[in-house]
Amino acid sequence: MGSEAPHHQLHAFLFPLMAQGHMIPMVDIARLLAARGLKSTIITTPLNASTLSKTTDRDRLSGLDIDIQIIPFPAVEVGLPEGTESLDKITSPEMIPKLFKAINMLQPQFEQLLEEKHPDFIVADMFLPWATESGGKFGIPRFVFHGMNFFSQCVTESLTVYKPYEGITSDKESFVVPGLPDKIEMTMSKLPEHFKVTTVFTELMEQVRDSELKSYGILVNSFYELEPAYAEHYKIVMGRKAWHIGPVSLRNRDTIDKAQRGKKGSIDEHYVLNWLDSKKPNSVIYISFGSVSRFSNDQLLEIATGLEDSGVSFVWVVRTIQNNEEEKFLPEDFEERMEGKGLIIRDWAPQVLILDHPAVGGFMTHCGWNSILEGLSAGVPMITWPLFAEQFYNEKLVIQVLKIGIRIGVEEWNKWMYGKSVTPVKKEKIREVVTQLMGDGEEAEEMRNRAKELSEMAKRAVEEGGSSYANLTALIEELKIYKK
Ligand code: UDP
Repeated sequence: MGSEAPHHQLHAFLFPLMAQGHMIPMVDIARLLAARGLKSTIITTPLNASTLSKTTDRDRLSGLDIDIQIIPFPAVEVGLPEGTESLDKITSPEMIPKLFKAINMLQPQFEQLLEEKHPDFIVADMFLPWATESGGKFGIPRFVFHGMNFFSQCVTESLTVYKPYEGITSDKESFVVPGLPDKIEMTMSKLPEHFKVTTVFTELMEQVRDSELKSYGILVNSFYELEPAYAEHYKIVMGRKAWHIGPVSLRNRDTIDKAQRGKKGSIDEHYVLNWLDSKKPNSVIYISFGSVSRFSNDQLLEIATGLEDSGVSFVWVVRTIQNNEEEKFLPEDFEERMEGKGLIIRDWAPQVLILDHPAVGGFMTHCGWNSILEGLSAGVPMITWPLFAEQFYNEKLVIQVLKIGIRIGVEEWNKWMYGKSVTPVKKEKIREVVTQLMGDGEEAEEMRNRAKELSEMAKRAVEEGGSSYANLTALIEELKIYKK
């Protein structure tokens, strides 16, 4: 209980968006703060709490002051099926505005908790813009967590402020995103929908920016050495008060912590580890498109065939549109032929555990920021296949700035699910990029070396004395002074 905590102990309220890509890093942040002696309370809904509690229970047993405060979620009230408490449960685009409506309805309950527990500060997801106002009512500073890197936030701000896409008539015509440290080019087809038409996100993104400007500061899951020019741009040119404290996934050091991040895996982690143990170093490609995207059966078939044709061993996480176990999307006898060569995991894999295994030498990713950061922390080069959100900006960071990846070549921003209207990436292209990334060509070798260097830098950043470690210390010290 906040009110019962010793007066010198800072108490943090952490309120993540109910989406794996937002909850997972926020829980890591809660654990990092608790490991520094703070009290961390995670605010979430009943089903999400039951998944997260395994991690927090383990942490509590090891002596950390961390708990979960549950608030009910009005799924049924907004017309969603009971139990739809997170974005990964969404199976059609029409459900998205309903989920956000339900999330907005949480404000009064959140404020009641603030009144009762009176924490010293709030870290709330960007998609809860009202949390700044809520904190303000009780004199509690609010920090924003976007789950994005500096680079993508700089791109977003430039697009929002300068609107360089105005006057561009063709979807494929490139334009420069102005004012950034590098010459970053974009096309209309790669921009999120809300820049082009009015959607539920158009107004929301304005509220997000407004609340960000009014909040105490921003926590960024990145490290200074990864994108120094953009960290400076963010703070100096954009004037945001930000702390880089990542990669937060490196908080998970042992097998159980890595295996239990997010949802319960659909495969036993020891089985995966044994399977990988039987493979040569850097010989396996890991393929995953994050926690919410779902591909059409046509696209899955192309991936399966492309992988088989590449001859490269793989671990592939598959999420179908229906997510139905019985659904048939593989070529005839594929699993028999791939026995020992490829491992297919339905729905949810222990991603960090897999990426960290020495047998894994490449990562085909949808460019979600957590995935990229986890991949580079593991020292693995990537094939970039962005789908939605800010993933096309992240692709630019990976390809152009960090130079640790090869593009699959997609040009069009999608909704959450891979729509029927989108032409699938063909098996020939998949085979080509997989063999290129996993082969012994000079370019691939250079990418592997750079990825390894970044991995070392990431690990140093979170160790005592490292840039992220020091930035977290600075944040805590500032909050102690604020509290006095
Ligand atoms: N993840 C996982 N297993 C899966 C799929 C995803 O552990 O099968 C985790 C992954 O490690 C990452 C998060 O879910 O931490 C996904 O976040 P990301 O930003 O990459 O993508 P999003 O899901 O938000 O699109």
